[in-house]
Amino acid sequence: MTEEEKTIEVKNNYDHLIAEEKNKHTVYCTKCPSKILSSTMGKHSKIQFNLPYMSQRKNFESVECELLSDYWMVPDMFMFDNIGFSKTVEFGLKYLICADCEIGPIGWYDDKTKLSYLALSRVKHAEDS
Ligand SMILES: [Zn+2]
Repeated sequence: MTEEEKTIEVKNNYDHLIAEEKNKHTVYCTKCPSKILSSTMGKHSKIQFNLPYMSQRKNFESVECELLSDYWMVPDMFMFDNIGFSKTVEFGLKYLICADCEIGPIGWYDDKTKLSYLALSRVKHAEDS
């Protein structure tokens, strides 16, 4: 076996959350009952982005990041039920935070394309009740 073959690629399988490339379930905050996104509003996107680790604070001083590659792409910020934005981090880039408890970042918003990306691993998925 070569070194490459022995390497275990750590990746999450989110197939059960995806239906026709959209989010099958309603998306909630992991820390509070706030509803973030209705089902089918986000499109599954494979895109690599370094997202800073979750913090309890609104302003993210830490630069420690996690490379995440599964996101719900939301083409219009008004499609969210509830979402908050951090202050602009770089030109045209903001982090998404929970509108109620301000936990985050749970994704990022690109002001140039107007697209929002919500990290699958940073939110809770639940069946519609
Ligand atoms: Zn919250």
